[in-house]
Amino acid sequence: MTKPAPIDLRSDTVTRPDDRMTAAMASAEVGDDVLDHDPTMRALEDRLAEILGADAALWVPSGTMGNLVALCLHLHRGDQFLAPRGAHVLHHELGSAAWLAGGMPESLDCDAGPGRPTADAVRAHTRGSNRYDALRPALLCLENTHNSAGGTVTPPHEHAQLAAAARDGGLRVHLDGARIWNASVTLGVPPGALTVGADSVQVCLSKGLGAPVGSAVAGSTEFVAEARRMRKMLGGGVRQGGVLAAAGLIALERVDSLADDHANALLLADGLRELGWDMSTPETNMTLASVPDVGLTLERLRTAGVLAVPMHGKIRFVTHRDAGKSDVEEAVRRIATAGV
Ligand SMILES: *Cc1c(COP(=O)(O)O)cnc(C)c1O
Repeated sequence: MTKPAPIDLRSDTVTRPDDRMTAAMASAEVGDDVLDHDPTMRALEDRLAEILGADAALWVPSGTMGNLVALCLHLHRGDQFLAPRGAHVLHHELGSAAWLAGGMPESLDCDAGPGRPTADAVRAHTRGSNRYDALRPALLCLENTHNSAGGTVTPPHEHAQLAAAARDGGLRVHLDGARIWNASVTLGVPPGALTVGADSVQVCLSKGLGAPVGSAVAGSTEFVAEARRMRKMLGGGVRQGGVLAAAGLIALERVDSLADDHANALLLADGLRELGWDMSTPETNMTLASVPDVGLTLERLRTAGVLAVPMHGKIRFVTHRDAGKSDVEEAVRRIATAGV
């Protein structure tokens, strides 16, 4: 008997483009985006700017490049940037914010809740020293939802307070909104309500929304014009980008369906809790398990036919459009049967 396929809950990035998406990609109207723009790319960027409440947006191949483009524009050597403890820009981008963008990282404690620093924490760090040899705080980099905290959501009023504290201290604000769509669905507010006061925002189309490739950075017209130059400098321009932008336009139609992923994450957390697991309560499409031995548990999960990833000392499970309710129920059954 062949072993059943593993249920892949490592990330919402494992989704594959479906028939509707590949059909849109195959028939996309294209130009040369590096030369003088591609029409489908332009349509996607305009749509993103509108949704995010920005003047303009720029497609980039990955969220990591989106953050890097923004940080390269906001930071100079000798600058310091603040980010919540565990932030993606601090831990999962190989320190490029420091060695390419030139900013020294400083992490903020999350006293308002998981993944959520307080405005006071921002204020405490904006009072830079006047010493000539001190770093200059220049940027607050927020993350909504916060990935390593377990997909946690910062509500609009907290976001606005954080942004205001940064601005009062003379700092710019970048929002790493890789999963801003999930935050918007949980909160029942449009994504634009979560970007207020930010100078730039990075969003991913290739996570829960299911595009195979693509992120974007958005901001003022001037910011995006500079971002386009920086993207080129980093080698991120693509020619017939419309093929990829077409997938992005379909992805944007799927924001509402993230509610299903959120419901399935709750189902998973509840199911595992009933088996005695110590699970975080999902706010979006993730749940974290606290276990004594992460490596051992991951190995047992794999043997049982369920894939997850280690995340800062815990195990992260992510629900997504290619792992529906029945898959999540089956995952709980497998874990129960194997006694993981
Ligand atoms: C995934 C992610 C990124 C990076 O996106 P890639 O497309 O994988 O480079 C950035 N920030 C957060 C919070 C993420 O979850």
